[in-house]
Amino acid sequence: MTKFIFITGGVVSSLGKGISTSSIAALLQAHGYKIRIKKLDPYLNIDPGTMSPFQHGEVFVTDDGAETDLDIGHYERFTGISALKSDSITSGKIYSKLLLKERSGDYLGGTVQVIPHVTNLIKEFILKESELVDFLLCEIGGTVGDIEGLPYFEAIRQLGYDLGKDNVIYIHLTLIPYLKHASELKTKPTQHSVKELRSIGIQPDIILCRSEKKIPDNERKKIGLFCNLKEENVIPSQDLDCIYRIPLSYHHEGIDKQILEIMNMPYKDGVNLSKWQEIDKNNKLIKGKVRIAIVGKYHSYKDSYKSLIEAFKHAEIYHKHKVELIWIETSNLTQDNIADKFEQIDGIVIPGGFGKRGVEQKILAIKYARIHKIPFFGICLGMQLSVIEFARNVLNITDAHSSEFNLNCTPIFDLMSNQKKENNLENKSSKANIGGTLRLGKYTCILAKESNIYKIYDSEKIEERHRHRYEFNVKFKEIFINSGLALSGMSIDKKYVETIEVKDHPWFIGVQYHPEYKSKPFSPHPLFISFIYSAINGQKVNYVKS
Ligand code: GLN
Repeated sequence: MTKFIFITGGVVSSLGKGISTSSIAALLQAHGYKIRIKKLDPYLNIDPGTMSPFQHGEVFVTDDGAETDLDIGHYERFTGISALKSDSITSGKIYSKLLLKERSGDYLGGTVQVIPHVTNLIKEFILKESELVDFLLCEIGGTVGDIEGLPYFEAIRQLGYDLGKDNVIYIHLTLIPYLKHASELKTKPTQHSVKELRSIGIQPDIILCRSEKKIPDNERKKIGLFCNLKEENVIPSQDLDCIYRIPLSYHHEGIDKQILEIMNMPYKDGVNLSKWQEIDKNNKLIKGKVRIAIVGKYHSYKDSYKSLIEAFKHAEIYHKHKVELIWIETSNLTQDNIADKFEQIDGIVIPGGFGKRGVEQKILAIKYARIHKIPFFGICLGMQLSVIEFARNVLNITDAHSSEFNLNCTPIFDLMSNQKKENNLENKSSKANIGGTLRLGKYTCILAKESNIYKIYDSEKIEERHRHRYEFNVKFKEIFINSGLALSGMSIDKKYVETIEVKDHPWFIGVQYHPEYKSKPFSPHPLFISFIYSAINGQKVNYVKS
């Protein structure tokens, strides 16, 4: 019988529920159990694809092309399991399904209500294919007490009843704030949060206490007493300098032992934590420093670039060499200050992005990296702009651009004819809706054998994830033949240019896809390994660490 673990949050948002869930899943994997994680988000958007990264952070993309919450990225990075479209749901999705069913007469004669109709759909989502794993972990977005979260809490409460006590546990993540002036950790918000949870019929089995300071045993006892738990089931989750140390820390605090004990599952002493120990060891050996500039426009909210930041962290651990990310806001970059801004920089990255703002400044940064032979990594929009920069400044096509930004240009990047047709955009001035036209998910790419990127991947055929609307316009392919810019990777059907590189340069690669989505702490992405290697060593065309 599958065991269900429901993870909820209290007190404040942003406590790292996604990372806690991932760490618990990783520990259960280390015990040899098969796991799956699902995310339930109470907001009313169908998916986060249309939300501003300023508000909601990065949109993560799965192999099968779902646009998801960034927590799904953590699940993949900690467990190594590729997430599926069917691993996440939002209220928007549930309600649209419900209303379609209502219109097609599925509930004929009945009054459609939150309980049982919405809650039943939530339960159906949780239970679907759960029999394929030993443990199904479900993270409920938001915090207990949020109005829109109520149907989810009700649904998981019902499942506790339906499936029986041995098969369901509730883990509640709360904050134990530290009051500086009183030099005290405060447990009251946790007590209130648990009270709130109990008022909707859920008694947590384990409380995970996030705090910046070590939680003394007497406070642990006190939380247990107020919240009806044994002291061992109050698990400290103290802030750590690296999120990949959390599985070891949770193990040390005994969370895996407690979960297995409560759920009557055998606890094996020989738990295999070697990959986490290896990461921990390498993380402690990090020295030196390499400075990587990221030129973009969502810098005030770092969650917008979550996977990118993590991919650099993975390369940092791999090289045991600190990667300092220097965030350069496009609005602060000009022709006059660019040399100063990049003076101490060992590598430049232009990440993915949408919209016109900051595009010319990014092109300025690319030109600087190309001319001064600074390692350069262009991701998605960064790749598109590096081709545009080359077309403008090397091939003298002065009006080269993407039709995303200028409809009266030489469109080196453009919508594909099928996208235009489907969305009534054949007439260029049309303001028709271009929603739903993104190329999303995993695609195969073939790398040219003589290219540097082929050396880096050490493979001709690769699979990477996409999230973009505009494509290299193959009409202009010829002008790059025998130029200094190689179109080094093509989609398997040869329709799309997927990777480029500037030939006479130590490291200048652009990729139309998002390699950062696939990097893992225990298998860093080869492009990030190679880019950081080049930035550390400043070597001429040495793409692969020997
Ligand atoms: N805005 C570009 C496009 O839609 C690039 C998108 C991205 O960088 N993810 O094609």
